[in-house]
Amino acid sequence: MSTVVAGASSRDAGAVRPEWDRDAALVGGQWVRPGGRTVTEVENPATETVIGHAADCGVAEADAAIHAAGAAFPGWSALAPTARVAILEGLASALESRYDLLVQTTIAEVGAPLSVAREAHVDTGLAVLRGYLDAARELAWEEHVGNSLVVREGIGVAACITPWNYPFYQVLAKVGGALVAGATVVLKPAELTPLSAYLLADAVVEAGLPPGVFNLVPGRGRVVGEALAAHPLVDMVSFTGSTRVGSRVSAVASETVKRVGLELGGKSASVVLEGADLDSAVRATVDACMLNSGQTCTAWSRLLVHRSDLDRAVAIARERAQGLALGDPTRPETEIGPVASAAQRHTVIGFIERALAAGATLVTGGADRPAGLPVGHYVRPTVLAGAAPDAEIVREEVFGPVLVLEAYDTDDEALAMANGTHYGLAGAVWGPDRAGAVAFARRMRTGQVDVNGGAFNPVAPFGGYRRSGNGRELGRWGIEEFLETKAIQL
Ligand code: NAP
Repeated sequence: MSTVVAGASSRDAGAVRPEWDRDAALVGGQWVRPGGRTVTEVENPATETVIGHAADCGVAEADAAIHAAGAAFPGWSALAPTARVAILEGLASALESRYDLLVQTTIAEVGAPLSVAREAHVDTGLAVLRGYLDAARELAWEEHVGNSLVVREGIGVAACITPWNYPFYQVLAKVGGALVAGATVVLKPAELTPLSAYLLADAVVEAGLPPGVFNLVPGRGRVVGEALAAHPLVDMVSFTGSTRVGSRVSAVASETVKRVGLELGGKSASVVLEGADLDSAVRATVDACMLNSGQTCTAWSRLLVHRSDLDRAVAIARERAQGLALGDPTRPETEIGPVASAAQRHTVIGFIERALAAGATLVTGGADRPAGLPVGHYVRPTVLAGAAPDAEIVREEVFGPVLVLEAYDTDDEALAMANGTHYGLAGAVWGPDRAGAVAFARRMRTGQVDVNGGAFNPVAPFGGYRRSGNGRELGRWGIEEFLETKAIQL
């Protein structure tokens, strides 16, 4: 990605759709072009061509957006929750009317295959927003405790900083909860994937949200992101991204003692207990690990099986990974698209090469470019085994289509292995009986566990233990994240 002057010709400007050719920030309800009139190019990771532009904002635009959000806060937070929900119903409808464009945008800017773009990205994002609206109707906004009236109100100005892997979903997981809570928002989307955030801004304008309630400031993390985290008029930073940057955001935000919500990385284990349906468990784990080219924070990137099941598990995983259709994300039959950027491909390939150099066995895949795909940031779905327990590939997040198989001898050993990284975001347990699997799940130090293929729930709390972050998104927990609590003594 590069920064260019607005209006300058780009590699294939003719292919740029008007909805993807943007050069402004949304500040106080107005589209404002940043000083210097610079834009960043947005690349399609499957074609390596430029398919759009976004404003490259600076500190001045961030500051203006924060002031606009601050000015809008008293009016927005004073509305009854039912009145906010009514306005946000209009936002949900405006997004739903853009469904096909949102799917096309997700395919183009993320490289997600059609079915993944529909279900995992856009459907999930819309379900999360609808889930917030439903939860708002049930939430105890006020209660009496002895002689106190306890009221819950929006925290103020919320800065939302989001990553590129599920850009539409991740933005709504924050912005939906914040707006329902009565907070006002300044959003900085990821530089790689700003286009779906622009579609959200269009929907905000169409739905008639009061000016300044939602502001969009695309730009670089080290410029706009840090300005938001540091700003004294920002009451909360809600960040999703890497543990490294989340730690930096926390440090910057601490100067002004603002609330910080962090949704960070993971290295989640799928644990197959003895006697489980090995075939289903291994296939489902391969699919979940490779979903979105492995660029899922909750990806089950480790598969733990009993030593007596290891050879069979390796064979099933090999067969399943080799059967995944890798290629052009616009083709309906494609299951795995490219990773999001050349830099990400370089990172993933590096992990595979270092794992092999450190003694892991290649079950399938590998660091080579896949045959027949000379263009695009493609990585072969890769399965590794035989890595040492303390190997990088076992402990560190790859964020690519790479699964590592490990063998355990006892359930206690499996638990220690599953809990043995700094992360704690997700996981899975497969067992012959639900009660035993749930008992194991209770002992896992992680924010989400799926038992025997339990499905994602868009209104259940989502978030991490330890270095996977703090705070929770989705459902009522994702609204509470953006609430202050006040006690009025009577
Ligand atoms: P990232 O590099 O940490 O970036 C995330 C966001 O932070 C981007 O908008 C980025 O802007 C911005 N940023 C970068 N440096 C910053 C700084 N110094 N101050 C403030 N903001 C800054 O993460 P990513 O590579 O986009 O995303 C991948 C990571 O996100 C993975 O580790 C993944 O596990 C994690 N993730 C977690 C969850 C969850 O819910 N727990 C969900 C999805 C992803 P630029 O785009 O300009 O760099």
